[in-house]
Amino acid sequence: MAQVSVRGVSKVYTGGVMAVKDVSLAVESREFLVIVGPSGCGKSTLLRMIAGLEEITTGEIWIGNKLANLLPPKDRDIAMVFQNYALYPHMTVFDNMAFGLRLRGYGRREIGSRVRDAAQILGIEPLLERKPKELSGGERQRVAVGRAIVRKPLVFLFDEPLSNLDAKMRVQMRTEIRKLHLRLQTTMIYVTHDQTEAMTMGDRIVVLNKGLVQQAAEPLTIYEHPVNRFVASFIGSPPMNFLQGTIQRVNGQWYFNEGAFKLRIVDDMVAALAPYDGQETIFGIRPEDLYDKLFIAEAPAESTVTSTVEVVEPMGAEVYLHLKSGRHPFIARVNPQARPEVNQDLDIVFDMGKAHFFDPKTEHAIV
Ligand code: ADP
Repeated sequence: MAQVSVRGVSKVYTGGVMAVKDVSLAVESREFLVIVGPSGCGKSTLLRMIAGLEEITTGEIWIGNKLANLLPPKDRDIAMVFQNYALYPHMTVFDNMAFGLRLRGYGRREIGSRVRDAAQILGIEPLLERKPKELSGGERQRVAVGRAIVRKPLVFLFDEPLSNLDAKMRVQMRTEIRKLHLRLQTTMIYVTHDQTEAMTMGDRIVVLNKGLVQQAAEPLTIYEHPVNRFVASFIGSPPMNFLQGTIQRVNGQWYFNEGAFKLRIVDDMVAALAPYDGQETIFGIRPEDLYDKLFIAEAPAESTVTSTVEVVEPMGAEVYLHLKSGRHPFIARVNPQARPEVNQDLDIVFDMGKAHFFDPKTEHAIV
């Protein structure tokens, strides 16, 4: 059964901004759902409507088997973790975690046992008597998570919880929250603008743009089969390369013609692209699907393009090459052993089996 069901929900703020547009999604019991999109796409608004912190303009939100539209936040059986921790500075860690339970009238023993259990799960037992100012950012975030855990809610809501942490701590907390989910087996809805967090944490990802759901699917499905150019460019780092050109049939073979070079289209994709014969399309290819020809035993000439190296970015395990060929700059993520140099010409092999094509008007994926 869906634990949270969002049905045709829209939000119009006073002043007329339509922040969320007719969004429907069902979050399954025990699922870890990530809502991801650029700043201003409506993800916090959507989460805050689920939490009861923002009025719903139209549509319905169901939590468990209750219509939640008119339920106050405290009756929704949810717990929310915010980006800014929102800890009470004058209270100890223990009291911060216990506060919500006290308000709800739990007894001392129950509160003590819940707080200690949560502290143990999060590894913050030695910190229980400290005040928030005596904690690091990562520790504070753990306390904020602890405060949510003690409630034993039906659903956890996370609003960009890692944004205030440094890069290393973000990576660590990412894993910790995933482990926490495995351990608690509770439904979690997690909002972030960071596509890496979305890819690595979500059982399923919902990509939002301008208040509209673009795609909802498992991370690898989104990565391998983005439904439109927006999703293709938003998910993945460095992002997918896009080249504009024309679909052409020459002597029974199909090509993508950039103007300065041609790439042979693989047979599997021909049927979908045939209606675009002679027309403009957008060709997309991820940086890891481009190869330095040196490392390819039998590189087909019809998918090899001579390119100029403009920038070399060594990343350690791989190198990002900023290349240019024809009218287009593009990035390749290649084996670091080649050590190409700036201004050098390099033969780049396109793995055309991994190509994507988008309609230039609708920007929907053709194949
Ligand atoms: P995100 O969380 O994806 O950054 P938000 O949900 O915060 O996006 O905001 C979505 C849109 O709604 C933005 O255009 C934002 O400016 C607008 N917005 C957010 N809160 C309010 C508000 N209280 N009043 C008016 N407009 C708002």
